[in-house]
Amino acid sequence: DTEKQTLGFQAEVKQLLQLMIHSLYSNKEIFLRELISNASDASDKLRFEAINNDALYGNDHELKIKVSFDKAARTITISDNGIGMSRDEAISHLGTIAKSGTKEFFGKLSGDQQADAALIGQFGVGFYSGFIVADKITVETRRAGLDAAHGVRWESAGEGDYSIEQIEKPSRGTDIILHLREGEDELLSSWKIKSIIRKYSDHISLPIVMAKEEWDEEKKETVVKDELETVNQASALWARAKSDITPEQYEEFYKHVSHDFAAPLTHTHNRVEGRSEYTQLLYIPAKAPFDLWDRNKRGGIKLYVKRVFIMDDAEQLMPTYLRFVKGVIDSADLPLNVSREILQESRDVKVIRDGSTKRVIGMLEELANADEQEKKDKYATFWTEFGQVLKEGVGEDAANKDRLAKLLRFASTNADSDEQTVSLADYVARMKEGQDKIYYATADSYKAAKNSPHLEIFRKKGVEVLLMTDRVDEWMLSFLTEFEGKELVSVAKGGLDLGSLEDEAEKKEHEETETSYKELTEKMKAALADKAKEVRVTFRLTDSPACLVADEHELSGNLLRMLKAAGQ
Ligand code: ADP
Ligand code: MG
Repeated sequence: DTEKQTLGFQAEVKQLLQLMIHSLYSNKEIFLRELISNASDASDKLRFEAINNDALYGNDHELKIKVSFDKAARTITISDNGIGMSRDEAISHLGTIAKSGTKEFFGKLSGDQQADAALIGQFGVGFYSGFIVADKITVETRRAGLDAAHGVRWESAGEGDYSIEQIEKPSRGTDIILHLREGEDELLSSWKIKSIIRKYSDHISLPIVMAKEEWDEEKKETVVKDELETVNQASALWARAKSDITPEQYEEFYKHVSHDFAAPLTHTHNRVEGRSEYTQLLYIPAKAPFDLWDRNKRGGIKLYVKRVFIMDDAEQLMPTYLRFVKGVIDSADLPLNVSREILQESRDVKVIRDGSTKRVIGMLEELANADEQEKKDKYATFWTEFGQVLKEGVGEDAANKDRLAKLLRFASTNADSDEQTVSLADYVARMKEGQDKIYYATADSYKAAKNSPHLEIFRKKGVEVLLMTDRVDEWMLSFLTEFEGKELVSVAKGGLDLGSLEDEAEKKEHEETETSYKELTEKMKAALADKAKEVRVTFRLTDSPACLVADEHELSGNLLRMLKAAGQ
């Protein structure tokens, strides 16, 4: 396949290009951040592959990113000497979107530019963002390990298709050449480009270099020198002292590692010394990714060993219930040639995972327990976006169960709202005189839970009930049977014992009523023999005539429905 070929974009790519150009225009400078971010990723990948194959470097060991522009040709070029792309890689990486769930994602776009811009940002705009300022992009690339004859030129005007051909490319890596749209000439300035790089890409650990410019007194103009200068700080951000990092730098670094477009909710940055030595810089996004529930989704932790990138999505470094956490962990102990298999068994990895888990929980506690409204609001946002995932931790992480239980938030009968804002501690603080249990109702919607006949007696007695309507709740509750010594009890379970909430007179009256209806309930039980296990007189209803309850030791009705739906 050496001839020039024209190929069509995947339908979603076409849609993304259209949308991006229109909705992200007001933020067009981000194209440079995205292309530099890719160049940095490409260098990380080369460094990693070269651990076992030093020949990949050839005679060019010094990884860097070069940005240049040509006023006459009206182009900006971003060059790297990273891993590069083969022909097949260029076709699959630059012509399709590989993320699963892409179709569903595009189905959600509304046509409202502002709303869609936020969604696209969350999706990650990446390479295609170049088309915000360019009406043609030329990519010239050569995969590390291939010879100069196996270069590839990819070119597109960002409409329906792109061309691809084999070229001679003397150097390894990738040049991205942006042919600027009409009216974008202000980008053709050294000062402008440098300021964009410093704003968005300062955290990149490789040097980003540009040609030096100097005022020439004789010519009375600035002239471009052959000499190169480094524009960014060029050191790994996480290895710098906290006090040397600005909030903006933390934020831009987050966008780089997460491929997210929006600022994170919060972060934690620590150097840990002791049994295992590592640095962690972990972030919580402000929004759940569209593929949060996709089991094959890319995880969020990048593993480095002594500043060398090892792998994306090091899922062994974070428990599944914290899969939304993004960031970097840099270990000083793991071997450079560590594989996923080794990670699985490594004791160092277990120490890092346990430590990181505690840090993330600590970061959440800090928001959840804060007095400042801003932090409280952040916790509310976190809970809305990721609360359901965190609940998985109650079952998965026995060691941290108690801390996680305190982070849970629920809707309850205390407020007339489906918002999940009540903590178990709030509930306990409001418990009635004589109440010794935490009561909850489960259902598949807030409305159903709120209108459950099981709540009647609790309303009458003024006892609060937690309303649980998330899919994971029943499962979680099988692990969460008590909180601070108070048993969690479903209002729908048989033989509801209200303990000392019932007074002696009531108890006596109940017993008498039961006896007087014994004949009737026996008859009903016989008639319903194969449908009901037991028929009882109830005191829990005040308006409804009858209700179904689950046996104390059996699965609840809601869980049974869920299991049935899941085909069990
Ligand atoms: P992302 O960075 O989130 O993967 P992008 O749209 O930014 O998405 O890039 C798509 C893919 O194209 C990258 O994952 C990578 O495989 C490839 N790519 C882009 N730029 C480069 C580059 N400079 N060198 C090598 N590969 C690149
Ligand atoms: Mg990218």
